[in-house]
Amino acid sequence: MSLNVEKSKQMLLESQKYLAGGVASTLRASMKPTPLFVESGSGSRVRDVDGNEYIDYLLAYGPLILGHAHPAMAEAMNEATKRGFTYGLQHDGEIKLAKLLTELLPCADKVALSGSGTEAVMLALRLSRAYTGRTKVVRFHGHFHGWSDAIFTSFPSPDMKQSSSARSSLASAPPGTGGQSENSLQDIIMLPWNDIEAFEALIAKEKDSIAAVITEPIMCNNGCIGPKAGYLERIRELTEQSGIVMIMDEVITGFRLGLGGAHGKLGLKPDLVTIGKALGGGFAISGVAGKADIMALIENGTVGHLGTLNGNFAATSAALAVLRELGKDNGSSYSRMEHLFNRLVAGLRELLNKHGIQGLINQAGPVFHFMFTEEKQVEDFDTFNKRDAAKYSRFAELMLEEGVLVRPSGLWYISTVHTEADIETTIQAADRALAKLAL
Ligand code: PMP
Repeated sequence: MSLNVEKSKQMLLESQKYLAGGVASTLRASMKPTPLFVESGSGSRVRDVDGNEYIDYLLAYGPLILGHAHPAMAEAMNEATKRGFTYGLQHDGEIKLAKLLTELLPCADKVALSGSGTEAVMLALRLSRAYTGRTKVVRFHGHFHGWSDAIFTSFPSPDMKQSSSARSSLASAPPGTGGQSENSLQDIIMLPWNDIEAFEALIAKEKDSIAAVITEPIMCNNGCIGPKAGYLERIRELTEQSGIVMIMDEVITGFRLGLGGAHGKLGLKPDLVTIGKALGGGFAISGVAGKADIMALIENGTVGHLGTLNGNFAATSAALAVLRELGKDNGSSYSRMEHLFNRLVAGLRELLNKHGIQGLINQAGPVFHFMFTEEKQVEDFDTFNKRDAAKYSRFAELMLEEGVLVRPSGLWYISTVHTEADIETTIQAADRALAKLAL
């Protein structure tokens, strides 16, 4: 039985008349059988305009850690409705949020607030260059740090030819999109991730020209690949010795892996972290947090940090509500989310066996990447790229027919309001979807 998404298809045609591409973010256009138009979202469920209801593991690409329309968020919005949404002036919400962030994030002496992960990364790079007086920035194949010209290199899925040509050299990274100046990336050095020798060799040669190294603590965007033992620690050690700013991009992992971010879990102190997504629970807010002497460059006016809606009252209220909820009962929602995902991952692995399908799941607590691959382990980007992405995209479509919304790339998120019953229903749905896939 195929899914009836006729109304979504019609609305896409209507949208395309006015909205460039018919979707508001390029990635959304790739959804099969069609980009879905949503009627409403509530808790762990989302309902489309054709009346289909789905258990939601897309969760708006990460932000909805409390699920849809959580009562605590609704209350925060109520408060914002009474007091006004944004002032272009200061308010107590900014102070409360900034204070709380400095308490929660081990590396944070001070924070700066922005609207999106992309902006937070832009600011972190600017701070690093101003702080060190150097220009080069090291980033890694398979990581994603937003779509600004300053760092955007691979989209929608990394182009292997481009990646490998840049891999062994110190050449500029290839632009990620048409219209992006080659010059914007001339100071970016691409390296393979989880390869400490490559990093050590680069540092030995280039350290005096490198302002920053930026890394996701877990390569969530491509395979949910964790760092090898000692890898990030060695990067921390070498960057510290060389006066290079270490930036951890925690736009996905921040407040998803724990209240102290991935760096809190790993016991590492980068110089700067970028946060976003889960912080706002669905509202547009992001931030840079880090060492006092780097953040001081904003205070003394060396580095510009601008944005009309930065730190607006509605967004800070949303973020405070998210952090309050996540902090309840000593953060017990994290172990609950992890427990539910452990169950789901175990169930999916059993199903792979049952249906004789080769696949792998890399899990980092409340986030995992599910891929179809013949590899026994996926610990680097090249191995990840051997997966059958088309097959997974077909699986995502079959799951939709079964009432489960998953991202076509394979990354699954869970919220605090998903239930045991959701997980069991999802396993049953996956059983039927994998059976069809195996045919
Ligand atoms: N950094 C990381 C690690 C991300 O995953 C993303 C978005 N997926 C960004 C930065 C950019 O965030 P935004 O989409 O809010 O600009």
